[in-house]
Parts: sequence; structure tokens; C-alpha cells
Amino acid sequence: MLTIISAPSGGGKSTLLRALLAAEPSLYYSISATTRARRAPETHGKDYFFYSEEEFKKLRDNNGFYEWAVVHGNLYGTLRSEVDAKLAAGRDVIMDIDVKGSMSMKKEIPDCTTIFILPPSMVTLEKRLRDRGTDDEATIQRRLTNAREEVHAAFQYDYILVNQELDKTVQNMRNIIAAQRFRASRTVIRDSMGSVLAPAVQSV
Ligand code: ADP
Ligand code: 5GP
Repeated sequence: MLTIISAPSGGGKSTLLRALLAAEPSLYYSISATTRARRAPETHGKDYFFYSEEEFKKLRDNNGFYEWAVVHGNLYGTLRSEVDAKLAAGRDVIMDIDVKGSMSMKKEIPDCTTIFILPPSMVTLEKRLRDRGTDDEATIQRRLTNAREEVHAAFQYDYILVNQELDKTVQNMRNIIAAQRFRASRTVIRDSMGSVLAPAVQSV
């Protein structure tokens, strides 16, 4: 099962995912590749695979990505190697990618579940970006401008969550993921002889 999370920058994706992954150890976080500079607390191979533009383009040209996009002036991409092996092994995979990337993934893996995280307001978003203290003023302004555009895409997603209280949002994410596990398309019903009565449509 594949779950995709998107939100404007500062919307709370990283914070929410950290809490979600701690609460749901069965989930596997798909680590993206990026050419953006590493932020102080980030680790290569844990938060992202940090590549030079040359390395990224080489991977892209070798069909290494499910999708890739330019986000806030840097290249980001979903590595096939990250997703395929985990899904094939029966793991539930979660990823944090932008709107364009999510829509591309939905085409590639239609059975995925998409969740858009909204900040309670633009004022709160700006405050959270400033309080985070990781970006300079120009970056904050660029991210706020992008956020005004990105929120329009929320209705293309399967679910929308407003990230007011962290704990409640994490619980709501868990509820959505739990519900997906019971989708009819994932359920195999057998008769008393063990034969499949209603074959599940397994697209992943
Ligand atoms: P993103 O990964 O989407 O860019 P972050 O997870 O870095 O966003 O969150 C941006 C800032 O907002 C962080 O400093 C984080 O601690 C804070 N934050 C996230 N969610 C909440 C929340 N529900 N309430 C208060 N602060 C939050
Ligand atoms: P950040 O630099 O703040 O970690 O992420 C910036 C944006 O890039 C976020 O909107 C995030 O969802 C997006 N992003 C991260 N990884 C990928 C990816 O693999 N593909 C795409 N399309 N977007 C990504």
C-alpha cells in the first residue's frame, strides 16, 4: 500500500511523518533524491539522498525515477529503487512529495492514497516557517508564494487534513491509513475449501 503526503512548505509534513513513523513502525518512508543543500539536522540516506545536479540527471536519464520535479528551484525525485523493493516485499510505503509529483504517482500507481495537509491559515504557516529558523527571508517569501498556489490543488487529493493540533493530525493520518487496509480491493475472501471467492484487484 502506498500513501502520499503533500503540503505547502512549513505545513508540517516532516514533523507529522516523524510522529507517524514512530507510531506505525510497519510503515516504510520512501527517501527521495534531491539537489537541494542539506539542512543542518538532515542526514544523507535518512532524510534525502543529497546528490549533485550531475548525479541527479544521470539517475534521471537511466530511468531511476518514478517522477521528478523542480520544486523551489531544486530537483527532487522519487527513486524507483526505494519504492519497488518495499512494495514487492509487502511493506506499506509512505512518501512526502509535491503536488505535481503526487499526480504523476497517482497515474503510475492508481491504487495509492493521497493526503493533502493544510496549515490552519497563511498567517500560521508564515509563523511556523519563521519559527522553524531554517530558511532565509527570500526562501520564506518564495515558499509562501508557492503555498498560495499549492492549496488550490488540495481538492485533487483523496483526503484533506488541517494540521491544527499535531497529535490530532497524526491520529487522523493513522485513521486514514487503517481504513485503506480494509478496502475491498485489498481483501481476498476464500470459501471453506480455500478457493478465492472474490479476487482482490491488486494493482501494487
Ligand atoms: P514541512 O516539512 O512541511 O516543511 P515542518 O514539519 O518542518 O514542515 O513544520 C514547520 C514548522 O512548524 C516546524 O517548526 C514544526 O515544528 C512546526 N509545526 C508543524 N506542525 C505543527 C502543529 N500542528 N502545531 C504547531 N507547530 C507545528
Ligand atoms: P523540502 O526541501 O522542504 O524538504 O521539500 C520541498 C518540497 O519538495 C516539498 O513540497 C516536498 O514534498 C517536495 N518533495 C520532496 N521529495 C520529492 C520527490 O521525490 N518528488 C517531488 N515531486 N517532490 C518532492
